[in-house]
Amino acid sequence: MDTFVTKAARLNGPRDIELIERELVCGEDDIIVKNHLMGICGSDKNFYRGYLPPKTAEFRQDPKFPFLLGHESGGTVVAVGSRVADYKVGDKVMAFGWNNNFAEYFAAKSFQLQPVPYGLDMDIASLGEPISCAMYSGLNSGVQLGDTVVVMGGGFAGQIIAQCARRKGAYRVIVVDVLEGKLALARRLGADITLNPGQDDVIEAVKDLTNGLGADVVVEAAGTAESFNTASEIIKHNGKFVFYSWVTTPVTLNISRWHDDGLDSSTPASCTTHGSSVMSGARKPCARWPRGSSTSSRSSPTNSSWTTSRPGSTSPTRTMPPSRSYSGRNRAGPPIPPPPEVESRGLAGRPRRPRPWAHAAVQGRPRKKP
Ligand SMILES: [Zn+2]
Repeated sequence: MDTFVTKAARLNGPRDIELIERELVCGEDDIIVKNHLMGICGSDKNFYRGYLPPKTAEFRQDPKFPFLLGHESGGTVVAVGSRVADYKVGDKVMAFGWNNNFAEYFAAKSFQLQPVPYGLDMDIASLGEPISCAMYSGLNSGVQLGDTVVVMGGGFAGQIIAQCARRKGAYRVIVVDVLEGKLALARRLGADITLNPGQDDVIEAVKDLTNGLGADVVVEAAGTAESFNTASEIIKHNGKFVFYSWVTTPVTLNISRWHDDGLDSSTPASCTTHGSSVMSGARKPCARWPRGSSTSSRSSPTNSSWTTSRPGSTSPTRTMPPSRSYSGRNRAGPPIPPPPEVESRGLAGRPRRPRPWAHAAVQGRPRKKP
């Protein structure tokens, strides 16, 4: 069996990284990879600060110090075990596993690797894992044609998720971050509107932009308690909350709105490393039709004071697709009227739409005689 001595980064405790030498033995099912580049995940930063995750996915190491870091990288196969059939020495690969690959060399099983597509720059391929995490989330976020989508957090993942939302047909993509540089990048990559909680009242702005209704989908990719709570406030009735962040410490969340407004949630937070898709097999089909109940709440361009940040434009000028040829239960009806005037009340001043159908159902029900 081949053995390799590698330098590796070991986290001995909070803020204490040591470069150690360790020996890798290439077992019969193992593949040894020489690293090209490493990515530093947000979770690595948490570990460095001393926040180890609770029980994690089954193929990860135990969450306790000392902790070998690394799960985002790409490189070249330098050895394969006798039972490995799908990779050979010299293959370029991307890592998708908890391989302790903050190191010159790392060992992986075949299912933790993917071949690098022909011609792809290895610098990019080394970021295959975080890109795929964000793409998985973006593609499975449930964003549908005409939605208003808010992405909380303009980091690496948030930027990709925002671009996914744009390409899935979102009517308006709003990115929220406290750093102006990230907001500028988001605008360059296609976000319509950017908000900085340090300067803008995010809840007020989103309500204003959506005629008081809230966003159809809010993706949480910032990972702070403030972000989670703001996200909870800006989702529309029956709207969707998408968990992306991996939060390793408890968060206090006011969930009464979730009950009152029937908020939906999903956790497409992962690819192979970050767990849920592999562990639950919960791949959701990309939604194809607008949600029936939400069509009337789609915001038409408003006279809002929040202006678009799209280059060369000064106001939100895009409109709903002019002709819709959907069939089935969501067949397009007459043009969507502007949302009704709403009176502001309820939790945190959240406006509620009148719900005449509720009254009809109650009043129309035959009463039993006593
Ligand atoms: Zn990661």
